[in-house]
Order: sequence, then C-alpha cells, then structure tokens
Amino acid sequence: MGAENLHVIVIGAGITGLVTCQALKKAGIRYSLFERDVAMNYRSNEWTMAIHWALPLLKEIMPQEVYAKVPEIACNPTVGIHSGLYPIINAETGELITGVPYNDGLRVSRSRMRALCAEGIDVQYGKSLTDIAFCESGKGVVVTFSDGTLVSGTMIIGADGPRSRVRETAMGSADKAATVKFPIFHTNMTVCYRDADKSLYVRQKYPTSYLALSQRSFHAFQSISSMPDGPDHPESWIFHMAMAWFGEADHSMSYPERLGLIKARAEGMGEPARSAFMWLPDDTEVHKADISYWVTEPWNNRQGRLTLVGDAAHPMPPYRGQGLNHCICDVSHLVNGLRSISDADGSLAEVVDSYEKEMIPRGKEEVTCSVENGMLLHDWDKIRESPVFNRGFKPMDGHSNVEEATAS
Ligand SMILES: Cc1cc2nc3c(=O)[nH]c(=O)nc-3n(C[C@H](O)[C@H](O)[C@H](O)COP(=O)(O)OP(=O)(O)OC[C@H]3O[C@@H](n4cnc5c(N)ncnc54)[C@H](O)[C@@H]3O)c2cc1C
Repeated sequence: MGAENLHVIVIGAGITGLVTCQALKKAGIRYSLFERDVAMNYRSNEWTMAIHWALPLLKEIMPQEVYAKVPEIACNPTVGIHSGLYPIINAETGELITGVPYNDGLRVSRSRMRALCAEGIDVQYGKSLTDIAFCESGKGVVVTFSDGTLVSGTMIIGADGPRSRVRETAMGSADKAATVKFPIFHTNMTVCYRDADKSLYVRQKYPTSYLALSQRSFHAFQSISSMPDGPDHPESWIFHMAMAWFGEADHSMSYPERLGLIKARAEGMGEPARSAFMWLPDDTEVHKADISYWVTEPWNNRQGRLTLVGDAAHPMPPYRGQGLNHCICDVSHLVNGLRSISDADGSLAEVVDSYEKEMIPRGKEEVTCSVENGMLLHDWDKIRESPVFNRGFKPMDGHSNVEEATAS
C-alpha cells in the first residue's frame, strides 16, 4: 500500500488538525477531518501565539499558495515575519528586564491562523469522536461519532487537543491519559479601546507584545491582536491581554468579578501596562484558560494505525511559547514519513514508530520544561533561573523533571 492508497482520519480541526490536512493534501494523501464543534471558532476564547523556530517547517508542509498568505495574518502587519528581541519587563516599574532573541518570528491570533489553515480544507463539523475500533486483520480502523455514524480508514491521527479522546484509546484508559492541572488562575481577554490615543499610548514602548513579570507573583501580557481597519486606524485595533497568578481557577466567578481581580493587580503596575489594564471596559469578557499538562509517554500505536499530534500529544503551559511550534514540528515529521510509505507489509508501522521515536522524547522534554518555566516565571526570586531566560525560545535538551519543578 503506497501513500496514494492511504485514507487518514484526522480528529480535531484546531490549528494542528488543519495543518495536518494541509500537509496531507500537499503530499497527495487522502484525508477526512472531523471536528466536534458545529463551526469554526465556535467558542469565543481567543489568544495570540508566536511561531518562531517552527516557521521554516510550516513553509515546507503548507501548500505554497496558503503559506504565501501567512505574513498577511500577522498581528502586527507592519512588521510581519521579523527578527528581534522579545521584551520581558518589570511589571511594577515598566522597565525592561531582558530581551529574548528570536529569528524570523511571527505572532498570529488563533482565530486568523485557524481560518487561514482551513483554506481549501474540507472540515466535517458536529462530529464528536466517541470510539475507535481496530480491524482484526491488522489493517484499518473504524471510528464512531456521537451521532452514531461510523467511518473507516487506514489510520487515525488524534489532533483533538489537551483532553484528547484519541489519547485515551492510545493509553488504554482515561486515567493514564488524564491531564494534570497547572496551579494557575489564567485569564485571557481581547479589547478594543475605540480610542486612537489610548491604542497608541499602550503600544508606545512595545509595538507588538510584551510579558510583564511582577514582584507580586503574577504575569501580565499584552499583544496587538489585529488591526481591522489597518495601521492608520488605531481606534479599531484589537489587543489580546492576559494576566495569571498562582491559585485555583474559580469557575463560578462572573466576568466583572474576574476583571476586579485583574484591576486590583494592575493598580500597582508601571505605565503603559497599568493603563492598558485599567482601561479595560467594565463589560470585558474575561475568559479563564484551563492550563493543564500531560507528560508525553509511549502508547500502543496498533501497528501504526493510531498516533497523536499537537496538544493531544503534549499539552503544556504556554509561558515559553512552544506548544504550536511543536504541533507544526509533529506534522512535518509525521507527514514526511507517510509520504514515503511503500507497498511492503509493516511500512505504516515503521513510519509511525519512527515518528514517535523522535516526537515522544521531544514532547516529554518540552512539557517538563514548560511546567518548570511556568513555575519559575511566577516566583520573582527565581525568574532568571527559568528556561525562557536561559534558553530563550529554542527547543530544550535536558532539564529537571516535573516533580522537582512543581515541588519548589
Ligand atoms: C494563552 C495561550 C498562549 C499561547 N501562546 C503560544 C505561543 O506563543 N507559541 C506557541 O507555539 N504556542 C502557544 N500556545 C499553545 C497553542 O495555542 C497550542 O499548542 C495550539 O493551539 C494547539 O492546537 P491543537 O490544534 O493541537 O489543539 P486545539 O486548539 O485544542 O484543537 C483541538 C480540536 O479538537 C477538537 N476536538 C476535541 N475533542 C474532539 C472529539 N472527541 N471529536 C472531534 N473533535 C474534537 C476541539 O473542538 C478542537 O477544535 C498558547 C496557548 C495558550 C492557551
């Protein structure tokens, strides 16, 4: 069975599932993509993400005409793909603590990146995976959806995010696949100040984005998210803001109550970050992000008929900006392997084994590192020991384990 005879079932139309299908499409491999939500960006939670070391891989796997539009979706279209120093600032004084170097980086909003990655991809919405069966012949899978429909294919790729249903089958139980909560109250919101002067003021020092670290053990983040009417219309600009501190997320809190917690912390911040948060309108929808992780470990891939990519394989705290970069890296390795599949028996198993041999240690290392980094960045006395200070945005190679990191 060569690549032309494969039928790949992809579960989840987040960015990873969509990029997987773009890469499969480019490789001439048949796919079917299923998404449990009824439409794209059905849930309103929005954030921005930096793509850095994986950008060359994205270029390789995306069809040329789709990749050509990537600079157009930059949060800050005036800089597009660019190199520089990412500002980490002192939340109380507003002064720069360090600039983290990056080459050819791009910051995108989740919704616009998702929309671009969906171009030309057939997504079957309203399809929630409930079960996976493996044919006794040793070839093929049959997947079941909550509406009772069945679909068969050569293999299934789980791109179904942090709480992956596919991972439960891979690991043999929901317990073994369960995520661990990262102990943080993380809020995300978008704001349009509808006032040109305010928009210009909050971007005066850091035009794309910054991370502010507080001596009071919280972080604040601001990024331009989009410029709907262009760079010359600051009154239309939309910003992504985030603030997070250690503690249990209280699910019962209303948006105004969460906003109250944010403004109480923002009071003591330096300018312009202080105003950026204090000017948040009273009706701001303050979303709570559920930050959790699962340390990647091997699973039974059933002769190459099941594997995982993206957050399904390595959900991690986002404070070193690595998640999406690893998603892209996974897709690049896996689809390059699938492209080379031959008629020989066992070829699919070899390709998937080889993909997992590279990805599982990489995922495990990065999840562990991102947990450690998340702990250290919220502890003022230790921020300089954090991986983002020491290694920047480069993928890691060696650090202490999760137990040590979370115990400190
Ligand atoms: C605040 C924040 C900031 C971040 N910043 C960065 C950054 O700067 N750089 C970076 O590299 N990464 C960053 N990340 C991480 C990045 O956002 C994720 O790694 C990436 O979006 C994961 O995409 P995904 O497609 O794997 O998962 P998801 O986006 O979770 O998509 C999974 C999809 O699967 C669907 N699904 C789930 N279960 C089923 C089912 N049973 N059946 C069918 N469909 C199903 C879901 O509805 C969803 O659409 C950040 C994350 C957060 C939260």
